[in-house]
Amino acid sequence: MAQPAVRKRDPRSFLGEEYDRLVAQNLDWRIRVLASSSGPWTTVSGKNVLMLCSNNYLNLTNHPKVKKAAVEAIEKFGAGSGSVRPIAGTLQAHIDLERTLAKYKRTEASLAYSTGFAVNAGLIPQLAGEGALIISDELNHGSIIDGVRLSRAEKAVYKHCDTEDLGRVLNEAEKKNYAHILIVTDGVFSMDGDIAPADKIVELAEGHGAMTYIDDAHGDGVLGEAGRGITSHFHVEGRVDVEMGTFSKAFGVVGGYIAGSRDLVNFALNKSRTWLLSGSHPASVVASCKASIEVVQEEPEHLQRLWDNTQYFKEGLRKLGFDTGRSETPITPVIVGESSTARKMSEMLFDENIFALPIVFPMVARDKARIRTIMNAGHSKVDLDIALVAFEKIGRALGVL
Ligand code: PMP
Repeated sequence: MAQPAVRKRDPRSFLGEEYDRLVAQNLDWRIRVLASSSGPWTTVSGKNVLMLCSNNYLNLTNHPKVKKAAVEAIEKFGAGSGSVRPIAGTLQAHIDLERTLAKYKRTEASLAYSTGFAVNAGLIPQLAGEGALIISDELNHGSIIDGVRLSRAEKAVYKHCDTEDLGRVLNEAEKKNYAHILIVTDGVFSMDGDIAPADKIVELAEGHGAMTYIDDAHGDGVLGEAGRGITSHFHVEGRVDVEMGTFSKAFGVVGGYIAGSRDLVNFALNKSRTWLLSGSHPASVVASCKASIEVVQEEPEHLQRLWDNTQYFKEGLRKLGFDTGRSETPITPVIVGESSTARKMSEMLFDENIFALPIVFPMVARDKARIRTIMNAGHSKVDLDIALVAFEKIGRALGVL
């Protein structure tokens, strides 16, 4: 019998085709390479530029104590950890970090992961499986979206920061007999710099017996007393079940974490595959993270300067007539409308030695393309004036002002 003709499948052509499509639509990432550390000024493409797009809020990446901790830890523990955490990759340095973090966060316990992304992707699906419901803010970060997608739970989305809508979803949920309900939100939203109403969310959750999970990636080291984050900002310490965060932003290093009850940590370390099956951080990383937490508490001037700069720059932009949206934090978008305008503005800023990137559709709505600026404690007022002069000149040239 004649065999049916087998279509010759090209296993690789989609790679180039997809890339070409992205390039044609101007949606591809063109990677900029830094030839120096991520500071208030840095070297990009051979130029010294004012950095307005780094998450190194407190400039701790360059703090002598944070750098020294890494060097000393390498000398003592070597370059790598040699294993995953549960087997032979838990060094004393990991435990020291987790103790320091729990004390700082005023929680019973904490657990360090390789990244914040690994926390969201590895823990959310475990906290809400079959028979549970996850309720998520519509603008949550991609790592939360992936964590939610990996869960077998039912899923619901509420309108951005809208606690009335969250209440509606919770009331609907009461009609079904879910074993668990998990409410997940970013603390600070990275595209707009607005803050989730954590106090009201916690209240609603408590009323409905739901668990709360707040991703404080952009609130860590930035919000609240001594940068303790969103729970401190809203005075709801001890009432958020899972405080999730990252060391890759204000703490200036890399790594994810959770802080909460001992039960939470025991559960997470036995259930998250991203923790169980992934090599642990070298001691240099965790020792630097610990040093950063200490610096934030011992040297409040960094946090003060971050907020002084934020206020100065935000006010400057608003006075010029720019639309900075609903930002309440050091993340200040300059909303210009069309994607092409945002891209052009970023290029023109770079010509003026300002490094700030455009955020365009699909990351934000089509008519809300923007330049996202992020303040740094290391910027001087002179730096910020340089940026404001450039924004004004370019804003006028592009007809944004
Ligand atoms: N959550 C939010 C809100 C973030 O902005 C980020 C970083 N872009 C992450 C999680 C992931 O954190 P990490 O860089 O530690 O993987």
